[in-house]
Amino acid sequence: MRTPIIAGNWKMFKTIVEAKEFAQNAKAGNTSTGVQKVICAPFTALPALSAELAGTDIALGAQNMHFEEQGAFTGEISPSMLKEIGVSYVIIGHSERRQYFNETDETVNKKVVAALKADLVPIVCVGESLEQREAGETSDIVRTQTEAAFSGLTPAQVAGSIIAYEPIWAIGTGRSSTAEDANETIAIIRSVIAEKFGQETAQQVRIQYGGSVKPENIASYMAQPDIDGALVGGASLVADSYLQLVNGAS
Ligand code: 13P
Repeated sequence: MRTPIIAGNWKMFKTIVEAKEFAQNAKAGNTSTGVQKVICAPFTALPALSAELAGTDIALGAQNMHFEEQGAFTGEISPSMLKEIGVSYVIIGHSERRQYFNETDETVNKKVVAALKADLVPIVCVGESLEQREAGETSDIVRTQTEAAFSGLTPAQVAGSIIAYEPIWAIGTGRSSTAEDANETIAIIRSVIAEKFGQETAQQVRIQYGGSVKPENIASYMAQPDIDGALVGGASLVADSYLQLVNGAS
C-alpha cells in the first residue's frame, strides 16, 4: 500500500507573515492521519515555516533548487542549503519552470540526482500541453519526460521519489482532467517505471495528479487505483482548504 501524499505548491505566493498565519491555522485544524502532508513554499518563507511546523507531521518542500552543491551561480539555492533549514522535499521540473526558466529534461535529471544525493525527496513533474494532448502525444511526452528524469538512477532511488502528473492545460485554469483520464496517464507513467526499473519499483513509487485539484474533486482522484495524492496550487493557499484536501485523501 502506498501512503497518499497531498503537497501544496504555493508558487510565488505568501510573505513570511502570511506563511506563519497559514501554519498556525493548519496546526490548529490538523487532525487526520495516514496522509503525508507537505507544503512547498517560497524560499523566504521556509525558515519561519520550519520553526512553526516543528513537531507536527506537516513537512516542508522547496519549489526548485540548483543541482550543484555550491559555486558561482548567482541567485541559486543548493540542496544542502535546503536541508539546513529543515526542508525534506523539493519540486523538480514544474511546467512553469520548464516554460519560463528554461528547465530541460537534462537539468531535471541533474536536479533529481542531486536531490536524492542530499537526502531530499524529489517531486518530479511531468505533463503535456494542450497542443500535445490534442495531437495525441500525451503518452509519448510523459514517457520521454519520465525516462529522462530518472535516467541513471537505481530502482531504490526511483521508488523513494514522487512523480506529479500535471497536464499543463489543467494548471490554474479550473479545467481539471477527469479522474479517469488522469488515472490512465498515470498508469502509463507507472508502466514506464516498470519497464525501466521493474514491477516492484513501479508499485512503490507514488504518483500524484496536479491541476485544478480542489476539496470538491479530491475524492474522485483518490478513488482511482493509480493516483496516490495531489500536487495542489491555488487550493493549498488557505489552511482550511488544504486540510480539507488532506481529509479527502485519508
Ligand atoms: P492549481 O492547483 O492552481 O491548478 O496548480 C497546480 C500546480 O501547478 C501545482 O503544482
